[in-house]
Amino acid sequence: MVTIKSDKEIQLMREAGQILARVHKDLEGYVRPGISTHELDAVCEKLIRSHGCLPSFKGYEGFPASACVSVNEEVVHGIPSKERILQEGDIVSVDTGVIWKGWQSDAARTHAVGKISGEKQDLIDRTRESFFVGIRQAVAGNHVNDIGRAIEDFIKPFGYGIVEALVGHGIGQEMHEDPEVPNFTTARRGMRLRKNMTIAVEPMINIGTWDVIETDNGWTFVSADRTPSAHYENTILIREGEPEVLSLLPEEKKLYGVL
Ligand code: MG
Repeated sequence: MVTIKSDKEIQLMREAGQILARVHKDLEGYVRPGISTHELDAVCEKLIRSHGCLPSFKGYEGFPASACVSVNEEVVHGIPSKERILQEGDIVSVDTGVIWKGWQSDAARTHAVGKISGEKQDLIDRTRESFFVGIRQAVAGNHVNDIGRAIEDFIKPFGYGIVEALVGHGIGQEMHEDPEVPNFTTARRGMRLRKNMTIAVEPMINIGTWDVIETDNGWTFVSADRTPSAHYENTILIREGEPEVLSLLPEEKKLYGVL
């Protein structure tokens, strides 16, 4: 179901987004060689709860942690583990969400662990940039596919693979609401975007193939050719003009030139 939010509901989602943005920013300081993905998750949960929020991922369809922590070829839904120790040169994607007074926010970042290759840095930067290119089309009156087409047009020249098995989504009191928001062109133009819809846009980009494999743990997806993968996500508010990015801090919005 698609939900159109009231001004009061939007304000709560804005507050949720700001808390989540802060959590991501603070968590970034913990990413370094030698830390386990379990430790990162534990810090993440502590930060979320310190703001009086609930970690929306924990227990979601049985997911055992507050953050999905996905390393290198892991695309999404990495399960935090004490045995998985980050190494210099890795890239790590952290996807997490908060519930604030019943309202959800969802966002993901990919970080460098120590010094990484230029190839991996380019992947991280271009994946993030594809989000900002995509959301320029996230305007009331446009269709969902306008977002995916813009992301695809931006990413394709780099020769990367856009993950198709997983897509963005509407968000509100539920983490996953309609519509689905693909990061690629579809045959249908998709739902028309309406003012005060809130959606999570989340390009997942592989250096190699678009294809992914679900691993034996029943959660984690890896790129089929095991090439590195990056993920960047924010919760946004659809408006008449350019969207408002709910899950970025004011200084980050300024840096990226968005509302
Ligand atoms: Mg999401």
